[in-house]
Amino acid sequence: MARILIIEDEARIASFVAKGLTAEGHQTTVAEDGDRGLDLALGDDFDLVVLDIGLPGMDGFEVLDQLRSQGARVPVIVLTARDSVTDTVSALEGGADDYMSKPFRFAELLARVRLRLRQANEQGSDQGAGRGDVLEAGGVRLDLRTRRASVDGREVDLSAREFTLLEIFLLNPGQVLSREQLLDHAWGFDFDPGSNVVDVYVGYLRKKLGAGRFATVRGMGYRLVP
Ligand code: CA
Repeated sequence: MARILIIEDEARIASFVAKGLTAEGHQTTVAEDGDRGLDLALGDDFDLVVLDIGLPGMDGFEVLDQLRSQGARVPVIVLTARDSVTDTVSALEGGADDYMSKPFRFAELLARVRLRLRQANEQGSDQGAGRGDVLEAGGVRLDLRTRRASVDGREVDLSAREFTLLEIFLLNPGQVLSREQLLDHAWGFDFDPGSNVVDVYVGYLRKKLGAGRFATVRGMGYRLVP
């Protein structure tokens, strides 16, 4: 069970999300505007925040900005208007962990929520003293807070998906990760497993970070060469 804060002014959407997450066993709190949402997010110990961008008063971008500048690391999934690529990019650059474009199916949001909660868990338990702000292996460095990536000191521009995919490689340096594990981590469990999207994205990472960093393990998957 996780404690999830939903900051959304549209009652219909807020209740749809809250009901669904409650049915999954989570404890939900709804805030109908940005100010109250920010207060709750800063004051209470939430495991995840679902944040609408279009809010009366303080909008979602401001809430996110305040949260991150005050050091809150709670995972945030933003809800953006459909086709608003600018909003999505700004939100991810502003420290959101993930996004959903409206309208969405609940199953899609749930996949994102599960993924983010699991990652937060993994980072909390695996990293010990490092607390998971920065992941580093084989000259590749990923700052989870600023969402910046670099290789051998050179900054690399990654898309949100490439970033998430690289994250699981860095959490498991040297380990073979199956396509299913990579899909599950970066795309959510309900993505078509027959898709070659993993291979395509590992290709992108090779192009940006160096082909030698990702070894193909025949019949199994990929491995980050540490
Ligand atoms: Ca709204």
